[in-house]
Amino acid sequence: MEARFIPDMKQLHIGIAGAGLAGRLLAWRLALAGWRVSLFDAKRRDALDTASQTAAAMLSPLAELAVSDDAVFELGQRSLALWPQYLAQLASPVYFRQDGTLVVAHAQDGASLEHFSRLLHHKLPESSKAQVQKLDAAALAQVEPILAGRFHGGLYLAGEGQLANDQLMDALALELDRLGVAWHEGQMVTHIEAQSIVCADQAHAADGTVDARGTGSKTALPHLRGVRGEVLRVECKSVTLQRPVRLMHPRYQLYVAPRPNGEFVVGATELESEDTGPVTVRSVLELASALHSLHPAFGEARILRLSAALRPALDDHRPSIERRDGVWHINGLYRHGYLCAPALVDDLVGKLRHDD
Ligand SMILES: Cc1cc2nc3c(=O)[nH]c(=O)nc-3n(C[C@H](O)[C@H](O)[C@H](O)COP(=O)(O)OP(=O)(O)OC[C@H]3O[C@@H](n4cnc5c(N)ncnc54)[C@H](O)[C@@H]3O)c2cc1C
Repeated sequence: MEARFIPDMKQLHIGIAGAGLAGRLLAWRLALAGWRVSLFDAKRRDALDTASQTAAAMLSPLAELAVSDDAVFELGQRSLALWPQYLAQLASPVYFRQDGTLVVAHAQDGASLEHFSRLLHHKLPESSKAQVQKLDAAALAQVEPILAGRFHGGLYLAGEGQLANDQLMDALALELDRLGVAWHEGQMVTHIEAQSIVCADQAHAADGTVDARGTGSKTALPHLRGVRGEVLRVECKSVTLQRPVRLMHPRYQLYVAPRPNGEFVVGATELESEDTGPVTVRSVLELASALHSLHPAFGEARILRLSAALRPALDDHRPSIERRDGVWHINGLYRHGYLCAPALVDDLVGKLRHDD
């Protein structure tokens, strides 16, 4: 357990708006470092309709490079090294695996897999190219026996990981309580200034403030937008996967991320829409039929939950830390929040320390 550092002089007080992944992780790292922390969120801590609670929480710097760039890749690689250290400091266990990712395609979608493979080869730095391994049908069957005979081959992306976001969010909440973080639940933040967080008519003073409200920061960050994503969570005891599997498709990509107790997160749609309504029939059909095509035993899977949330995205699709009018903003985590958060939060803690 990391020693808690208490500054000799005045204990600095930080106000953080937003208790999603970014807000919770930052609050925890700062509280551990001896800061006094107040955390504000419009929702209760166990609300499920946020991006952080909806995510599949795959840690896929390689696979995501196809839709991102070297900045996300670098943050992802640093974060993959930080996650095990961070999780070891939590009192409650969080499911975490780093057994790579498998990428497959049905025969008729071979061109999508081939394109994905070439894109990765083109974008990956030379030092990481060996992490992408081509598998023939026999090698694929060894890596993931349940898929034997179902695909001609695939790609294995070594070193990629995943974690259980619901367990992480709960574990962080426990740590924040333990460290005495003042958590103002159900408090809609209407305005943030350099030294105050305003909820309804009440201003809460602090020595510094951070805006981590995800898509709730739109008034402060005009270029921020929400990108809708939907996932299914299913239980299927007759299928065992050792690692996340991505299924290439010309129209949409499916991933199936295994979780403890025979559960799987199946996702995800990506829709240029800020609709926060329930998951649509079309999306359930697409996700469920792709899941069934991965292995017919998934036909008997029980649907445990359908979730939709908005990914907070900036125009360049990169996570960002910036300071505007004295307020720090951590945002734009888009589809890479879990992939990038530890390194990003570490960077922000460094900036805040430098500031005091
Ligand atoms: C379907 C889906 C799948 C995903 N899969 C992955 C994945 O596999 N890997 C990965 O790395 N990332 C994934 N992501 C992305 C990841 O979930 C997000 O990048 C990350 O959760 C964003 O965290 P955040 O804390 O910035 O925002 P949020 O989770 O949106 O949290 C913001 C918080 O601020 C609060 N808030 C908003 N407005 C206010 C206000 N005015 N006052 C007070 N509080 C407010 C909200 O209640 C919320 O608690 C996925 C996202 C989705 C939607």
